Amino acid sequence: MLWKIIGSRWLYCQSGVNNSMGEQTLKLLVIDDDPADIELLRRNIADIPDMSVEFTSLSTSIKDQAVLSSQSADLVFIDYLLGSHTGIDVFQAMKEAGCCQPMIMLTGMGNEFIAVEAMKAGFADYIVKEAMEPSHLRRAITYALEKASLMQQLEEQRKQLEKLARIDDLTGLYNRRYFFERFTMEVSRAVRYGQPFSVLMIDLDHFKHVNDTYGHLFGDEVLARTGKNIQIHTRNTDISGRYGGEEFCIGLSSTGLAGAEEFAERMRQRIENEKFIAPDGQTVQVTCSIGIALVDEYDQNVSRSLDCADQALYEAKSLGRNRVVVWKAFNDLKK
Ligand code: GH3
Ligand code: MG
Ligand code: MG
Repeated sequence: MLWKIIGSRWLYCQSGVNNSMGEQTLKLLVIDDDPADIELLRRNIADIPDMSVEFTSLSTSIKDQAVLSSQSADLVFIDYLLGSHTGIDVFQAMKEAGCCQPMIMLTGMGNEFIAVEAMKAGFADYIVKEAMEPSHLRRAITYALEKASLMQQLEEQRKQLEKLARIDDLTGLYNRRYFFERFTMEVSRAVRYGQPFSVLMIDLDHFKHVNDTYGHLFGDEVLARTGKNIQIHTRNTDISGRYGGEEFCIGLSSTGLAGAEEFAERMRQRIENEKFIAPDGQTVQVTCSIGIALVDEYDQNVSRSLDCADQALYEAKSLGRNRVVVWKAFNDLKK
């Protein structure tokens, strides 16, 4: 997003086109079926001091054309009376098609009640054609662009907050709460469609020793890179999260125990082969233990498969660590 000072205020220009003076040009589109009204608007805008504007017009209310023409516009003016449509219809079609520019409605004198409807629908402002003056236009344009810019900042902040609520900061994987939410959804989908679904519980071996020997910051680096490793090597349809301190969980969609075991073994080797340089220059390698369980049709309460994977992980630890244990096989062994 590019910015420009017009008068004493900040405006943003999506297009970022520079004119011959090196100023940024604001791209305006007007959608109006009356050529005289388009000309009136064009002249009034040309008379606004200190505003460099590229003016385009569209004299049809065909929605697809409006969407197409607005692609490169920073701001759109839409007339209320547009042949068989109203400006509000066209506005709504443009919003549905993803147009995010601020839009200003043009109304005739006596049609102010329409302006109220327009504002309710989401127009940034309205201008009464008969009372159009460069100073009014300047104010409306500035206000509409500032409002849009503010809305955009709020939207970015909302997205950021949403991400913070879902993602573990250190590893970039889902946090425990969101992993469980997604896991629950994926399990119920798999059960509904009769698809296999496996879960892996991964725990780094002797990680306390890693922290105690090389420091907590180094431990953090190991966790971060292990998280990346997991992220890179899982499919988009799988879900992976940091389940606890040095414990990770992966849900593998459309995967039975045999496939999950193969995947787990590859992941175990990848983690084992990763080399880290400690603060004292030493090369350090870490290993992990992995427990696997299959989600079955009785797994309405999803925590059951997680418990089974956890039991298998515990078994992997007691068998000496740096290995993969499948819950079913481990149960059979005990029989
Ligand atoms: P085991 O092989 O039985 O899993 O042994 P372990 O040492 O890995 O297990 P234990 O549960 O005794 O210790 C886990 C360690 O993980 C202790 C804790 O300080 C460390 N840890 C947990 N979260 C973090 C973190 O965010 N950063 C770092 N650096 N260490 C962490
Ligand atoms: Mg551990
Ligand atoms: Mg642990």
